[in-house]
Amino acid sequence: MKVFSTNGMKATLIAAALPFWGFFGHRLINEMAVYTLPPPLIGFYKAHIDYIRLHAVDPDKRRYAVAGEAERHFMDLDHWGKAPFADLPRDWQGAYWMHAEWRWSTSAGDTLWGVYDPKSRLLRWKVDSTRYDSLSIDPACVRSQFFAARSEGFAEQPVILGCLDTLWQERDWGTLTLRDTFSKHGVLPYHLLHSYRQLIRAFESGDVDRILRQSADLGHYIGDAHVPLHTTKNYNGQLSGQDGIHAFWESRLPELFAGQDYHFVVGRAEPIEGDPADYFWQIVMDSHGMVDSVLSEEAKLSASWPEDQQYCFEKRGSARLLVPCEAYSRAYHQSLNGQVGRRMRAAIKSLAAVWLSAWTAAGKPELTAFAAGSKISETDSLSLQDYEHLPRKQQH
Ligand SMILES: [Zn+2]
Repeated sequence: MKVFSTNGMKATLIAAALPFWGFFGHRLINEMAVYTLPPPLIGFYKAHIDYIRLHAVDPDKRRYAVAGEAERHFMDLDHWGKAPFADLPRDWQGAYWMHAEWRWSTSAGDTLWGVYDPKSRLLRWKVDSTRYDSLSIDPACVRSQFFAARSEGFAEQPVILGCLDTLWQERDWGTLTLRDTFSKHGVLPYHLLHSYRQLIRAFESGDVDRILRQSADLGHYIGDAHVPLHTTKNYNGQLSGQDGIHAFWESRLPELFAGQDYHFVVGRAEPIEGDPADYFWQIVMDSHGMVDSVLSEEAKLSASWPEDQQYCFEKRGSARLLVPCEAYSRAYHQSLNGQVGRRMRAAIKSLAAVWLSAWTAAGKPELTAFAAGSKISETDSLSLQDYEHLPRKQQH
């Protein structure tokens, strides 16, 4: 994508105007998923559909305010090699510990670096060129220490572990620290499972506010997981001279064409089959398989299209913003052959499946009983103005 000489400026302007699937896309996914649910779930969600729709973008609003939030929205899979990413355990702890930095500062003043082996669950140390020592660690203790430190906003700081066995402490072997060098590359598929489990617990609790909050949040992360560029380190085309392609694909295209070209008939929701972790991983793997076409189609188009007709100024409220021109957008959209609409439909279908499965896993609690008890306001003045620039028929 070529935009004069104001590349950095352009990316900023577009990002500000069109954040992540766009508010439009995220809200559409959350809302449409409701209509695919079977009774009695549909009755409950429909009673709260304004909340589910409006709060579809809450996780994006938290990105810069809450420690650990930003990395939940993406995963740079290609940072970890090539598909199928053999060095990336599908369980969070295995992956996290394997790729975290383990440092042992001995009491003699030496520093040794450990490597965690997820198969044996041992932490191994290179003693000399041929010999390793290993140490077993108490997973529950490490986990609780890490999260205690992280909740105070120290995710990038080493965590001093106080949970080594007593032998270690008695012999004064020094200090073992664990530093998070994993999460900054994204944790989206792991977080999907976590968020899904939180929704199950919310259903079990019968707390309507909690169910709604978790349901809306989960819709956001499911939406992100269906966007190919949320699964690559070249997430904004910055590594291939295509800066701005993120918002182009996930915001500009749906805003221009969802009202005319997409259909959202996805059928009645079916529950997830098999292991939910595998299900969530499959979503991001499918998305990752499309990264190539997202980038290469735009690169091809950009090379053949007049440079001064790729970006245009457009009025947004009182501002004039530089966005991909409509004709250029249409050509890109056509070259992708329905890909954006397909991913949006897949997101709608997945989200409904996940809500349905969480409710089922919680023992199908009676929903009508607590549908009336919500204290949540159905209006959210923060968000409605985001719709103002959309053509009327696209508003919901
Ligand atoms: Zn997001």
